[in-house]
Amino acid sequence: MSTLVTGIGELVTNDPALEDGPLGVIPDASLVVEHGHVVWTGPSSEAPDADERVDLGGRAVVPGFVDSHAHLVFAGDRAGEFEARMSGARYDGGGIGTTVAATRAASDDDLRARLGGLLAEMRRQGTTTVEVKSGYGLTVDDEARSLRLAAEVTPETTFLGAHVVPAEFAGRADEYVALVTGPMLAACAPHARWVDVFCEPGSAHAFDGDQARAVLEAGRDAGLGLRVHANQLSAGPGVQVAVELGAASADHCTHLSAADVDALAGGTTVATLLPGVEFSTRSPYPDARRLLDAGVTVALATDCNPGSCFTSSMAFCIALAVREMRLTPAEALWAATAGGAAALDRSDVGRLAPGARADLAVLDAPSYRHLAYRPGVPLAHALELPSVRA
Ligand SMILES: [Zn+2]
Repeated sequence: MSTLVTGIGELVTNDPALEDGPLGVIPDASLVVEHGHVVWTGPSSEAPDADERVDLGGRAVVPGFVDSHAHLVFAGDRAGEFEARMSGARYDGGGIGTTVAATRAASDDDLRARLGGLLAEMRRQGTTTVEVKSGYGLTVDDEARSLRLAAEVTPETTFLGAHVVPAEFAGRADEYVALVTGPMLAACAPHARWVDVFCEPGSAHAFDGDQARAVLEAGRDAGLGLRVHANQLSAGPGVQVAVELGAASADHCTHLSAADVDALAGGTTVATLLPGVEFSTRSPYPDARRLLDAGVTVALATDCNPGSCFTSSMAFCIALAVREMRLTPAEALWAATAGGAAALDRSDVGRLAPGARADLAVLDAPSYRHLAYRPGVPLAHALELPSVRA
């Protein structure tokens, strides 16, 4: 069963083999899908025949967004905390404990239903790949449960037992790290692809550089890939530990020194920027231009979570990246698609060239530029192809 998707006013392929810069844009394009994968792209005038046809009437198509940083297994609500923050309260990660209590008390079915609801919400907004972290259980059983549920919906599951030091370990962070790197890791690794740690030495709730290194090295020894919450609230060792250990991604990167930028530019670690967090905590944005100009690979993700940023919209993050961080619309879209794929070490998503998964996001607009030009308007949605569903 093959499907010809035609009437594409502007197709963004992210195919570097095409001449038109990193986005590889084809105007008046068509695309053929077989067995869930792209098998042909090109001008509509050269399109081959297929078993079925879907005409998009001149809409733009971009690769489905790759949201490489999200916390979707949780219960509870922290709208009150957001309201307080907007009235001047400072964010320091401490409210995570509220979500931990609600998550521990929730049933599997409740957590599964919330997770499924958020994933559907993302798909309706054009996100087709999403990474899901644990980190609101913080016991051996609750972390393993979170990852089991996450693994039901995505292969990109991340063990974040080192999200914060739970209240019952207050003042005993090293003891908690021993639990995370020992029995908790053993119970979680079978359900996880990645390990992550909130490295923030200035926060009373998070982990310093040595603790972060211990968590990452234990995860690596258990066969997991590495990701780091780094340099969000203040300068610190997170980025350099991430680069040194070959982490796939250092996320946040809000407070960077010249040495941090040099390390990222000289390594393979992607800098994943999460501008929804700065928006929702009223904090200064990362200096994205400095990273791009240094040659660092930059990704954009939502950090969707109930505390510091409860948006699931990649289009909103693109608009913020353009307006507040001075990315061009093309750079922002690339970061939200191919950049996210790089941050997850994936070559089958984040692009629409032959061989890639047929993860198409359709825009109710003639050009990808509208993602930033029309902020807050729900232009993007994942294309559901009859042949792929079957
Ligand atoms: Zn996060």
